[in-house]
Amino acid sequence: MMTFEGLGIDARLIQATDELGYVNPTTIQEKAIPVLLQGTKDFIGLAQTGTGKTAAFVLPLLHKLSMSRSAQNKFGGTGIRALVLTPTRELAAQVEESVRNYGKYLQLTSTVIFGGVGMNPQVARIKKGVDILVATPGRLLDLQQQGLLDLSTVEILVLDEADRMLDMGFIHDVKKILALVPKDKQSLLFSATFSDEIRELANNLLKDPQ
Ligand code: AMP
Repeated sequence: MMTFEGLGIDARLIQATDELGYVNPTTIQEKAIPVLLQGTKDFIGLAQTGTGKTAAFVLPLLHKLSMSRSAQNKFGGTGIRALVLTPTRELAAQVEESVRNYGKYLQLTSTVIFGGVGMNPQVARIKKGVDILVATPGRLLDLQQQGLLDLSTVEILVLDEADRMLDMGFIHDVKKILALVPKDKQSLLFSATFSDEIRELANNLLKDPQ
């Protein structure tokens, strides 16, 4: 049986997953983590909810960000280095909770933004800056259009549950966001299904994905 140590994950992340009771990596984790740790290659993962897909991208993302210094945004705060887009606020909150749980022994900062709640606390947090931002597309664009968000320092972009994102009609928002992040970045796409629409999105977004 493969272990998290064997996958090359930082000891501080293993400590955190140990405490959560994770013994062995799941299949998607075994496949995704070594590839994502290694390089800057784009990645497409086919996995349903419940397979451990969140840790499959959050663990290598945290590992990589912990090895370099935070960027600066145009407001003088911490620049966003990883942007995770999710279709729903429930999923956004869940993913950001995973980021905090797995990253509890690292010095990285994160926050979550989504619609349907007041903007002010989100804006205050964003201005101070975070290394990792988890967001739903609508609220993200809203803040960006008000000049409250700086996406110019993004190094890693994750589209989580991309098929649901398309089903929910977020394709135009996603495309707008893609135009706001640097061209030179690593992009990861996770989806439970691999339809023609997902294939097309992947073709547009990903360069020679693994
Ligand atoms: P997800 O598919 O990302 O929604 O994860 C489903 C559930 O599996 C979550 O409650 C995680 O905490 C849990 N989980 C993720 N990875 C592991 C693992 N390697 N061992 C045990 N549980 C895990």
